[in-house]
Amino acid sequence: KKWVYLFKEGNANMKELLGGKGAGLAEMTNIGLPVPGGFTVTTEACTEYYNQDQKLSDEIIGQINDNLAILEKECEKVFGNVDNPLLVSVRSGAKFSMPGMMDTILNLGLNDETVAGIAKSTNNERFAFDSYRRFIQMFGDVVQEISKDKFDDVLDSAKEKNGYKDDTELTADDLKEIVVAYKKIVKEETGKDFPLDPKEQLLMAIEAVFRSWNNNRAISYRNMNDIPHDIGTAVNVQSMVYGNMGDDCGTGVAFTRNPATGQKKLFGEFLINAQGEDVVAGIRTPKDIDELKDIMPDVYKQFHDTAALLENHYKDMQDIEFTIEKSKLFMLQTRTGKRTAAAALRAAVEMVEEGLITKEEAILRLDPLSLDQLLHPTFEAEALKAAELLATGLPASPGAATGKIYFTAEAVCEAVANGEETLLVRKETSPEDIEGMYAANGILTARGGMTSHAAVVARGMGKCCVAGCEMIKVDEAAKKFVVGNQTFTEGDFISLNGSTGNVYKGSIKTVTPELSGHFGQIMKWSDEMRKLKVRTNADTPNDASVAVQFGAEGIGLCRTEHMFFDEHRLPSVRRMILAESSKELREKALAEILPMQKEDFIGIYKAMEGRPVTVRLLDPPLHEFLPKETKDIEALAADMGIAFEDMVTVIHGLEEFNPMLGHRGCRLAITYPEIAEMQTRAIMEAAIEVKEQDGFDVIPEIMIPLIGINEELTYLDKVVRNIAELVKKEKNSDIKYLVGTMMEIPRATLIADQIAETAEFFSFGTNDLTQMTYGFSRDDAGKFITDYKDKGILPNDPFQSIDVEGVGKLVEMGVMLGRKTKPDLKIGVCGEHGGDPKSITFFHNAGLSYVSCSPFRVPIARLAAAQAAL
Ligand code: PEP
Ligand code: MG
Repeated sequence: KKWVYLFKEGNANMKELLGGKGAGLAEMTNIGLPVPGGFTVTTEACTEYYNQDQKLSDEIIGQINDNLAILEKECEKVFGNVDNPLLVSVRSGAKFSMPGMMDTILNLGLNDETVAGIAKSTNNERFAFDSYRRFIQMFGDVVQEISKDKFDDVLDSAKEKNGYKDDTELTADDLKEIVVAYKKIVKEETGKDFPLDPKEQLLMAIEAVFRSWNNNRAISYRNMNDIPHDIGTAVNVQSMVYGNMGDDCGTGVAFTRNPATGQKKLFGEFLINAQGEDVVAGIRTPKDIDELKDIMPDVYKQFHDTAALLENHYKDMQDIEFTIEKSKLFMLQTRTGKRTAAAALRAAVEMVEEGLITKEEAILRLDPLSLDQLLHPTFEAEALKAAELLATGLPASPGAATGKIYFTAEAVCEAVANGEETLLVRKETSPEDIEGMYAANGILTARGGMTSHAAVVARGMGKCCVAGCEMIKVDEAAKKFVVGNQTFTEGDFISLNGSTGNVYKGSIKTVTPELSGHFGQIMKWSDEMRKLKVRTNADTPNDASVAVQFGAEGIGLCRTEHMFFDEHRLPSVRRMILAESSKELREKALAEILPMQKEDFIGIYKAMEGRPVTVRLLDPPLHEFLPKETKDIEALAADMGIAFEDMVTVIHGLEEFNPMLGHRGCRLAITYPEIAEMQTRAIMEAAIEVKEQDGFDVIPEIMIPLIGINEELTYLDKVVRNIAELVKKEKNSDIKYLVGTMMEIPRATLIADQIAETAEFFSFGTNDLTQMTYGFSRDDAGKFITDYKDKGILPNDPFQSIDVEGVGKLVEMGVMLGRKTKPDLKIGVCGEHGGDPKSITFFHNAGLSYVSCSPFRVPIARLAAAQAAL
């Protein structure tokens, strides 16, 4: 088996085997660029090393030696030769870039004899001994696991003794002494002499790089970035070139385009007379790459042209490392440059305009989720630098927000009415806080996870939210929170970053996003390519118009319950619920709600300007609308003229052990058809009014939730249609409307063929469908899903990304059976998954007509749907 490849034997497509760095070096070698010679020991050799109890097999060692011999011939230098020694670097390089996670050794091949050869050939004794002492230190640290401090102590005391400030002041003789002291440290720490045989050094170094694949840093990096643990790293052995041999030498790093903005202009830094590490380590301040033009015009031109050539060759922005040795340019690495979302968009669009890539390539290259960075306000970079970090919570909903803190929804609303910028701070939020959440610039909670009420609602609103920030202790009654030894009270300014979870002291300036230009172009191309339509989940005219700006083609889910929480309506809603035995009282209360509900729909229809709107009938269990605290119950009892005790009894009567599986969804409408009738009337009257007055051709889609039994639907379909037809007659209108259902109970997907006989459309409610398929409470699963992920029981949270195997099978069955009855049945999805790129690929393949997601996910869904179609 071939375990080792010369650079010239590889190419860019061999990343898996040669690692990213190895494949890049191979490709550059083969297109004729000046790359110092070398070879790559494959990732398979790494796996083999672990399979053989962390030993290199004789076959691998043999191939390393063979390739070393070839390298010696190519460079006309010999490993360990006194007069003309070959020195190499040994670097890791996995398939996925893991910057700084694994180890590197430079100047390998130096020993007491070759150091003299280097001194002679470079005519620079100081340089030779400085390289030698660096090598011993690196080798000791990386290969022999000797603490770096031990070496640093020697270096520091040598400087102190001589009264030097900088390393550069050390003379050749100082360095010779340091080398002796370093070797002594190695002997003391390992019990053995420092290895002087270069071949032995090389094998030890290669093994150390293989071992570094499993150091703690590398393991956590892989965990954080979803990189598999079993793919191993390759090792690149490359003949050394020096950027630190004098003022005609240097080293640097550059991007072919600006990684922050995407602007097409070489962007980078270099240092004269320095080695690679010096640029990164920040010991000296590097110069802008433009200045190289003045210092070494020829080298600059050559580098500039090479960078252009590499970008052209890879058809993507490159991140390039180079070294200049005695005015000669060498390329040490090229890889795809990491960039911000804004830079990614600009570069993609401009590369299409330049003819470098196709539109399709541009679309496929972008990460849909990264668009989120561009849709929300962000902190101004300079202002952020000056800010004091107070605490970090969960990045529950992205964006940046700043404002005065208030501890109740009412206080927020009042402050906003007075023109203040506010943030709502709560232990945790509940449905009663909706208005305050809406009015505030952002939300901070001390408790709750990524799927807590605050997190879900804030994401839905596109509002910045930091949740579960346990470092702050909130005292709502005292209107304050404490973090560390600082206390913040009502009216104090803080700032939140919902994309990182950071909480800052004081107010920080924010900047608003720009949606035209490159962003607009990418969206336009996405729309040309995608098959899935993209709708939005919106409950207010404001959300609806935000979503339209983001490109929503309709509303896929208007949840009507949020409208019931409005403080002016809640009394009527409560009277309706508490009317219990009296149909008459209930109808009276419903009659009070009707005009308000109608206004809601008018606003939404207008905002949607004739685009389709799916309105769902009331879904949550009724007790959610009732007060919990004694003082609120007392107030309500007084308001309704009922004894407090009786009120408590009624409220208890409505409590459920398992509300998510209780009296909710269509079950409510079956007990109280009046509610569905009122809502239908509001939906229809509003549609007729908007059609007549504003000329928008509204076709309302009335959606019945939580159907599991065909008869539930046939019963309610009649209730809804009777009223709808009645309204049409009353208003003398021929308006069209549809009656459909949610598919969110597993049983419904199994009998979808029956359901489709009545339903005019389906919409998969994958939140409930996931909850009921797994039997995981969607409000409680956050507590244990992390353990499931950590223990490898679940690959990811099924409430975030659809479980293709199980829940997905139910979706496919629902689609198949539904279309068996009605071949062109319109089928969408309106659970959280409708905005998740991975799930969108699945929905595309499952043949859905549209996905519906929160307004701020709409652009993400448009791009993801385009990618799914390519
Ligand atoms: C669902 O269950 O997926 C859904 C969209 O409805 P809700 O989240 O309101 O239960
Ligand atoms: Mg649901």
